[in-house]
Amino acid sequence: MTLNTDDVWVIGAGVIGLTSAIALAEGGHRVRVVSRDAAAATTSAVAGGLCWPYRIRPYERAVRWSVRSFEVLAELAHRPQATGARMVTGTMASASTAPGAADDGLAAWYAAVPGLRQAVADELPEGCGSGWRARTPLVDMPAHLRYLERRLAAAGGGVERREVRSLDEAGRTAAVIVNCSGLGARSLVPDREVHPVQGQLVIVENPGVQEWFVAAESGAADTTYALPQPYGLVLGGTARENAWSREPDPAVADAVVARCARYFPQVAQARVLAHKVGLRPARPSVRLEAERLPGGALCVHNYGHGGAGVTVAWGCADEVVRLVRDA
Ligand SMILES: Cc1cc2nc3c(=O)[nH]c(=O)nc-3n(C[C@H](O)[C@H](O)[C@H](O)COP(=O)(O)OP(=O)(O)OC[C@H]3O[C@@H](n4cnc5c(N)ncnc54)[C@H](O)[C@@H]3O)c2cc1C
Repeated sequence: MTLNTDDVWVIGAGVIGLTSAIALAEGGHRVRVVSRDAAAATTSAVAGGLCWPYRIRPYERAVRWSVRSFEVLAELAHRPQATGARMVTGTMASASTAPGAADDGLAAWYAAVPGLRQAVADELPEGCGSGWRARTPLVDMPAHLRYLERRLAAAGGGVERREVRSLDEAGRTAAVIVNCSGLGARSLVPDREVHPVQGQLVIVENPGVQEWFVAAESGAADTTYALPQPYGLVLGGTARENAWSREPDPAVADAVVARCARYFPQVAQARVLAHKVGLRPARPSVRLEAERLPGGALCVHNYGHGGAGVTVAWGCADEVVRLVRDA
Protein backbone atom coordinates (compact mmCIF):
# COMPACT_ATOMS: atom_id res chain seq x y z
CA MET A 1 0.00 0.00 0.00
CA THR A 2 1.37 3.47 -0.86
CA LEU A 3 0.67 6.10 1.73
CA ASN A 4 -0.12 9.62 0.62
CA THR A 5 2.38 12.05 2.11
CA ASP A 6 -0.42 14.60 2.50
CA ASP A 7 -2.05 12.33 5.03
CA VAL A 8 -1.05 13.20 8.58
CA TRP A 9 -2.05 11.54 11.83
CA VAL A 10 -1.72 13.72 14.90
CA ILE A 11 -1.71 11.73 18.13
CA GLY A 12 -3.29 13.76 20.95
CA ALA A 13 -6.18 16.22 21.25
CA GLY A 14 -4.68 18.51 23.92
CA VAL A 15 -3.59 22.05 23.08
CA ILE A 16 -0.37 20.80 21.48
CA GLY A 17 -2.08 18.25 19.21
CA LEU A 18 -4.95 20.50 18.15
CA THR A 19 -2.77 23.52 17.32
CA SER A 20 -0.34 21.29 15.37
CA ALA A 21 -3.26 19.73 13.52
CA ILE A 22 -4.74 23.13 12.65
CA ALA A 23 -1.41 24.49 11.37
CA LEU A 24 -1.00 21.41 9.15
CA ALA A 25 -4.63 21.33 7.94
CA GLU A 26 -4.61 25.04 7.13
CA GLY A 27 -1.35 24.42 5.26
CA GLY A 28 -3.08 21.96 2.94
CA HIS A 29 -2.51 18.57 4.62
CA ARG A 30 -5.26 16.03 5.20
CA VAL A 31 -5.20 15.69 8.96
CA ARG A 32 -6.75 13.24 11.39
CA VAL A 33 -6.32 13.66 15.14
CA VAL A 34 -6.34 10.39 17.04
CA SER A 35 -6.79 10.75 20.77
CA ARG A 36 -7.37 8.41 23.70
CA ASP A 37 -9.21 11.17 25.62
CA ALA A 38 -11.69 13.83 24.62
CA ALA A 39 -10.09 17.29 24.55
CA ALA A 40 -12.15 18.29 27.60
CA ALA A 41 -10.54 15.46 29.60
CA THR A 42 -6.91 16.35 28.85
CA THR A 43 -4.33 18.14 31.00
CA SER A 44 -4.80 21.07 28.63
CA ALA A 45 -8.38 21.51 29.85
CA VAL A 46 -7.10 21.89 33.44
CA ALA A 47 -4.46 24.54 32.67
CA GLY A 48 -4.89 27.97 34.24
CA GLY A 49 -4.26 29.43 30.79
CA LEU A 50 -1.69 32.15 31.45
CA CYS A 51 0.71 32.86 28.58
CA TRP A 52 4.07 32.92 30.38
CA PRO A 53 6.95 30.42 30.09
CA TYR A 54 7.05 28.38 33.31
CA ARG A 55 8.58 24.97 34.06
CA ILE A 56 9.72 24.36 30.50
CA ARG A 57 13.18 23.84 28.98
CA PRO A 58 15.21 24.74 27.02
CA TYR A 59 14.54 28.42 27.66
CA GLU A 60 15.87 29.74 24.38
CA ARG A 61 13.49 27.71 22.22
CA ALA A 62 10.65 28.03 24.73
CA VAL A 63 10.86 31.81 24.65
CA ARG A 64 10.85 31.84 20.84
CA TRP A 65 7.76 29.61 20.79
CA SER A 66 6.12 31.70 23.53
CA VAL A 67 6.62 34.95 21.65
CA ARG A 68 5.00 33.45 18.54
CA SER A 69 2.06 32.10 20.59
CA PHE A 70 1.67 35.47 22.28
CA GLU A 71 1.15 37.05 18.84
CA VAL A 72 -1.43 34.45 17.80
CA LEU A 73 -3.31 34.54 21.11
CA ALA A 74 -3.32 38.36 21.16
CA GLU A 75 -4.97 38.24 17.75
CA LEU A 76 -7.52 35.65 18.92
CA ALA A 77 -8.23 37.85 21.95
CA HIS A 78 -10.09 40.23 19.63
CA ARG A 79 -12.85 37.56 19.68
CA PRO A 80 -12.85 36.33 23.30
CA GLN A 81 -16.33 34.79 23.20
CA ALA A 82 -15.44 32.66 20.20
CA THR A 83 -11.83 31.77 21.03
CA GLY A 84 -11.57 31.77 24.83
CA ALA A 85 -8.52 34.09 24.66
CA ARG A 86 -8.44 37.52 26.34
CA MET A 87 -5.74 40.08 27.05
CA VAL A 88 -5.51 40.69 30.79
CA THR A 89 -3.13 42.83 32.85
CA GLY A 90 -1.31 41.22 35.73
CA THR A 91 1.72 41.01 37.99
CA MET A 92 4.45 38.38 38.11
CA ALA A 93 5.80 38.99 41.60
CA SER A 94 8.80 37.61 43.38
CA ALA A 95 9.96 37.55 46.97
CA SER A 96 13.40 38.60 45.80
CA THR A 97 14.22 42.24 45.20
CA ALA A 98 15.77 41.57 41.77
CA PRO A 99 12.99 41.11 39.20
CA GLY A 100 13.77 38.55 36.51
CA ALA A 101 17.42 38.23 37.34
CA ALA A 102 19.51 38.38 34.17
CA ASP A 103 20.34 34.70 34.57
CA ASP A 104 16.79 33.40 34.94
CA GLY A 105 16.83 32.54 31.22
CA LEU A 106 13.83 34.67 30.32
CA ALA A 107 15.56 37.91 29.32
CA ALA A 108 14.39 37.51 25.71
CA TRP A 109 10.80 37.08 26.95
CA TYR A 110 10.98 40.25 29.07
CA ALA A 111 12.32 42.09 26.02
CA ALA A 112 9.59 40.76 23.71
CA VAL A 113 6.37 41.26 25.70
CA PRO A 114 4.89 44.58 24.55
CA GLY A 115 4.62 47.07 27.39
CA LEU A 116 6.17 44.80 30.04
CA ARG A 117 7.77 46.86 32.81
CA GLN A 118 9.03 46.51 36.36
CA ALA A 119 6.34 46.88 39.01
CA VAL A 120 6.68 49.86 41.34
CA ALA A 121 6.55 49.32 45.09
CA ASP A 122 2.87 50.19 45.59
CA GLU A 123 1.84 47.68 42.91
CA LEU A 124 3.38 44.85 44.92
CA PRO A 125 1.76 43.09 47.86
CA GLU A 126 3.55 42.77 51.17
CA GLY A 127 6.24 40.09 51.04
CA CYS A 128 7.08 40.66 47.38
CA GLY A 129 10.25 42.60 46.70
CA SER A 130 9.93 42.93 42.94
CA GLY A 131 7.83 42.01 39.97
CA TRP A 132 6.81 42.54 36.39
CA ARG A 133 3.65 44.18 35.16
CA ALA A 134 2.35 43.09 31.76
CA ARG A 135 -0.75 42.64 29.66
CA THR A 136 -0.69 39.10 28.37
CA PRO A 137 -3.07 36.52 26.91
CA LEU A 138 -5.12 34.62 29.50
CA VAL A 139 -6.93 31.67 27.96
CA ASP A 140 -10.15 30.00 29.13
CA MET A 141 -8.95 26.53 28.21
CA PRO A 142 -12.23 24.59 28.02
CA ALA A 143 -13.60 27.29 25.68
CA HIS A 144 -10.32 27.49 23.74
CA LEU A 145 -10.17 23.72 23.16
CA ARG A 146 -13.74 23.83 21.77
CA TYR A 147 -12.64 26.69 19.49
CA LEU A 148 -9.61 24.70 18.31
CA GLU A 149 -11.80 21.69 17.49
CA ARG A 150 -14.21 23.88 15.47
CA ARG A 151 -11.30 25.53 13.65
CA LEU A 152 -9.77 22.16 12.81
CA ALA A 153 -13.10 20.89 11.47
CA ALA A 154 -13.44 24.04 9.34
CA ALA A 155 -10.00 23.26 7.84
CA GLY A 156 -11.19 19.74 6.97
CA GLY A 157 -9.56 17.89 9.90
CA GLY A 158 -11.28 15.26 12.00
CA VAL A 159 -10.86 13.90 15.53
CA GLU A 160 -11.15 10.21 16.34
CA ARG A 161 -11.23 8.77 19.85
CA ARG A 162 -8.93 5.80 20.27
CA GLU A 163 -5.70 4.77 21.89
CA VAL A 164 -2.63 4.33 19.69
CA ARG A 165 -0.63 1.34 20.96
CA SER A 166 2.60 1.95 19.05
CA LEU A 167 4.13 4.52 16.74
CA ASP A 168 4.98 1.75 14.26
CA GLU A 169 1.30 0.81 14.04
CA ALA A 170 0.46 4.49 13.39
CA GLY A 171 3.21 4.66 10.76
CA ARG A 172 1.54 1.88 8.78
CA THR A 173 -1.60 4.02 8.47
CA ALA A 174 -0.26 7.46 7.59
CA ALA A 175 2.95 8.67 5.97
CA VAL A 176 3.39 11.39 8.59
CA ILE A 177 2.77 11.00 12.31
CA VAL A 178 2.88 13.94 14.72
CA ASN A 179 3.28 12.68 18.25
CA CYS A 180 1.57 15.13 20.65
CA SER A 181 0.74 12.55 23.30
CA GLY A 182 2.01 14.58 26.28
CA LEU A 183 2.54 12.34 29.27
CA GLY A 184 1.33 9.42 27.10
CA ALA A 185 4.71 9.55 25.32
CA ARG A 186 6.21 7.87 28.39
CA SER A 187 4.72 4.53 27.28
CA LEU A 188 3.98 5.23 23.60
CA VAL A 189 7.51 6.12 22.47
CA PRO A 190 8.54 4.86 25.09
CA ASP A 191 10.35 7.81 26.68
CA ARG A 192 11.11 7.46 30.40
CA GLU A 193 12.29 11.09 30.53
CA VAL A 194 8.66 12.21 30.40
CA HIS A 195 7.15 12.29 33.87
CA PRO A 196 4.23 13.93 35.67
CA VAL A 197 4.41 17.13 37.67
CA GLN A 198 1.05 17.18 39.37
CA GLY A 199 -0.76 20.49 39.81
CA GLN A 200 -3.87 21.15 41.88
CA LEU A 201 -6.21 24.13 41.48
CA VAL A 202 -9.24 25.46 43.33
CA ILE A 203 -11.88 27.38 41.37
CA VAL A 204 -13.84 29.87 43.47
CA GLU A 205 -16.55 32.40 42.81
CA ASN A 206 -14.63 35.54 41.89
CA PRO A 207 -14.94 38.11 44.70
CA GLY A 208 -13.86 40.90 42.30
CA VAL A 209 -10.28 40.10 41.22
CA GLN A 210 -9.80 41.62 37.75
CA GLU A 211 -6.09 41.09 37.12
CA TRP A 212 -3.97 37.95 37.11
CA PHE A 213 -1.38 37.60 39.86
CA VAL A 214 1.49 35.15 40.34
CA ALA A 215 3.93 35.10 43.26
CA ALA A 216 6.99 32.90 43.17
CA GLU A 217 8.18 32.47 46.72
CA SER A 218 11.87 31.87 47.10
CA GLY A 219 12.79 28.32 47.97
CA ALA A 220 9.21 27.03 47.45
CA ALA A 221 8.35 24.57 44.68
CA ASP A 222 4.78 25.83 44.67
CA THR A 223 3.77 29.11 43.10
CA THR A 224 0.83 31.11 44.42
CA TYR A 225 -1.52 32.47 41.79
CA ALA A 226 -4.96 33.84 41.05
CA LEU A 227 -6.25 33.93 37.47
CA PRO A 228 -9.64 35.52 36.74
CA GLN A 229 -11.43 33.31 34.22
CA PRO A 230 -15.03 33.60 33.01
CA TYR A 231 -15.83 30.34 34.83
CA GLY A 232 -14.40 31.52 38.19
CA LEU A 233 -11.23 32.67 39.89
CA VAL A 234 -8.53 30.01 39.45
CA LEU A 235 -6.39 29.63 42.58
CA GLY A 236 -3.12 27.76 42.46
CA GLY A 237 -0.90 26.16 42.50
CA THR A 238 1.15 23.14 43.31
CA ALA A 239 3.95 21.26 41.55
CA ARG A 240 4.57 17.69 42.78
CA GLU A 241 7.24 15.82 40.84
CA ASN A 242 6.30 12.24 39.89
CA ALA A 243 2.88 12.33 41.57
CA TRP A 244 0.37 10.43 39.43
CA SER A 245 -2.92 10.96 41.27
CA ARG A 246 -5.65 13.00 39.59
CA GLU A 247 -7.74 13.10 42.76
CA PRO A 248 -7.97 16.50 44.47
CA ASP A 249 -6.54 16.41 47.98
CA PRO A 250 -8.72 18.46 50.40
CA ALA A 251 -5.71 19.41 52.57
CA VAL A 252 -3.82 20.67 49.54
CA ALA A 253 -6.89 22.64 48.42
CA ASP A 254 -7.13 24.31 51.84
CA ALA A 255 -3.44 25.20 51.70
CA VAL A 256 -3.82 26.71 48.21
CA VAL A 257 -6.75 28.88 49.33
CA ALA A 258 -4.84 29.95 52.47
CA ARG A 259 -1.78 30.95 50.44
CA CYS A 260 -3.91 32.96 48.00
CA ALA A 261 -5.79 34.61 50.89
CA ARG A 262 -2.49 36.14 52.03
CA TYR A 263 -2.67 38.32 48.89
CA PHE A 264 -6.47 38.40 48.39
CA PRO A 265 -8.14 38.05 51.83
CA GLN A 266 -11.63 37.92 50.21
CA VAL A 267 -10.92 34.49 48.66
CA ALA A 268 -10.89 32.84 52.08
CA GLN A 269 -14.71 33.25 52.20
CA ALA A 270 -15.38 32.68 48.49
CA ARG A 271 -17.64 29.79 47.48
CA VAL A 272 -15.66 26.90 46.01
CA LEU A 273 -16.96 25.97 42.54
CA ALA A 274 -14.60 23.15 41.61
CA HIS A 275 -11.33 21.35 42.36
CA LYS A 276 -9.03 20.35 39.52
CA VAL A 277 -5.89 18.25 39.25
CA GLY A 278 -3.70 17.88 36.16
CA LEU A 279 -0.44 16.13 35.36
CA ARG A 280 2.02 18.38 33.54
CA PRO A 281 3.95 16.40 30.90
CA ALA A 282 7.43 17.33 32.15
CA ARG A 283 10.74 16.48 30.48
CA PRO A 284 14.29 17.82 30.97
CA SER A 285 13.73 19.44 27.55
CA VAL A 286 10.80 19.55 25.15
CA ARG A 287 11.12 16.97 22.39
CA LEU A 288 10.31 18.71 19.11
CA GLU A 289 12.17 16.91 16.33
CA ALA A 290 11.61 14.55 13.40
CA GLU A 291 12.69 10.93 13.02
CA ARG A 292 12.03 8.12 10.55
CA LEU A 293 10.09 5.17 11.91
CA PRO A 294 11.37 1.68 10.97
CA GLY A 295 8.63 1.34 8.29
CA GLY A 296 9.69 4.63 6.64
CA ALA A 297 6.97 6.97 7.92
CA LEU A 298 8.03 10.37 9.21
CA CYS A 299 7.37 10.95 12.90
CA VAL A 300 7.52 14.49 14.29
CA HIS A 301 7.63 14.41 18.08
CA ASN A 302 6.07 17.37 19.89
CA TYR A 303 5.75 16.59 23.61
CA GLY A 304 7.14 17.34 27.06
CA HIS A 305 5.92 20.95 27.41
CA GLY A 306 5.74 20.83 31.21
CA GLY A 307 4.02 23.85 32.73
CA ALA A 308 3.81 25.90 29.55
CA GLY A 309 1.98 23.98 26.84
CA VAL A 310 -0.62 26.70 26.37
CA THR A 311 2.14 29.32 26.25
CA VAL A 312 4.20 27.67 23.52
CA ALA A 313 1.60 25.71 21.49
CA TRP A 314 1.33 27.96 18.42
CA GLY A 315 5.09 28.45 18.17
CA CYS A 316 5.60 24.70 18.33
CA ALA A 317 2.86 24.15 15.74
CA ASP A 318 4.73 26.38 13.29
CA GLU A 319 7.86 24.32 13.85
CA VAL A 320 5.95 21.07 13.25
CA VAL A 321 4.82 22.41 9.86
CA ARG A 322 8.42 23.35 9.01
CA LEU A 323 9.74 19.91 9.99
CA VAL A 324 7.08 18.15 7.87
CA ARG A 325 7.76 20.45 4.90
CA ASP A 326 11.56 20.07 5.15
CA ALA A 327 11.28 16.27 5.28
C1 LIG B 1 -2.62 22.80 37.25
C2 LIG B 1 -1.98 23.14 35.93
C3 LIG B 1 -1.94 24.46 35.53
C4 LIG B 1 -1.35 24.81 34.31
N1 LIG B 1 -1.35 26.11 33.93
C5 LIG B 1 -0.76 26.46 32.75
C6 LIG B 1 -0.77 27.82 32.33
O1 LIG B 1 -1.32 28.72 33.02
N2 LIG B 1 -0.15 28.12 31.15
C7 LIG B 1 0.43 27.17 30.37
O2 LIG B 1 0.99 27.50 29.34
N3 LIG B 1 0.42 25.86 30.75
C8 LIG B 1 -0.15 25.49 31.91
N4 LIG B 1 -0.14 24.18 32.31
C9 LIG B 1 0.58 23.19 31.48
C10 LIG B 1 -0.27 22.69 30.33
O3 LIG B 1 -1.50 22.24 30.81
C11 LIG B 1 0.45 21.56 29.59
O4 LIG B 1 1.77 21.92 29.25
C12 LIG B 1 -0.30 21.22 28.31
O5 LIG B 1 -1.66 20.98 28.59
C13 LIG B 1 0.31 20.04 27.59
O6 LIG B 1 -0.48 19.82 26.45
P1 LIG B 1 -0.41 18.49 25.61
O7 LIG B 1 -1.36 18.66 24.47
O8 LIG B 1 1.01 18.14 25.33
O9 LIG B 1 -0.89 17.35 26.63
P2 LIG B 1 -2.36 16.88 27.06
O10 LIG B 1 -3.29 18.02 27.20
O11 LIG B 1 -2.17 15.99 28.23
O12 LIG B 1 -2.85 16.02 25.83
C14 LIG B 1 -2.25 14.78 25.50
C15 LIG B 1 -3.15 14.09 24.50
O13 LIG B 1 -2.54 12.89 24.05
C16 LIG B 1 -3.50 11.83 24.08
N5 LIG B 1 -2.78 10.57 24.20
C17 LIG B 1 -1.81 10.22 25.08
N6 LIG B 1 -1.37 8.97 24.83
C18 LIG B 1 -2.10 8.52 23.77
C19 LIG B 1 -2.13 7.30 23.02
N7 LIG B 1 -1.32 6.28 23.31
N8 LIG B 1 -3.02 7.18 21.99
C20 LIG B 1 -3.85 8.21 21.66
N9 LIG B 1 -3.86 9.37 22.34
C21 LIG B 1 -3.00 9.54 23.36
C22 LIG B 1 -4.37 12.18 25.28
O14 LIG B 1 -5.60 11.48 25.22
C23 LIG B 1 -4.52 13.70 25.06
O15 LIG B 1 -5.52 13.94 24.10
C24 LIG B 1 -0.77 23.80 33.49
C25 LIG B 1 -0.84 22.47 33.89
C26 LIG B 1 -1.45 22.14 35.09
C27 LIG B 1 -1.54 20.70 35.50
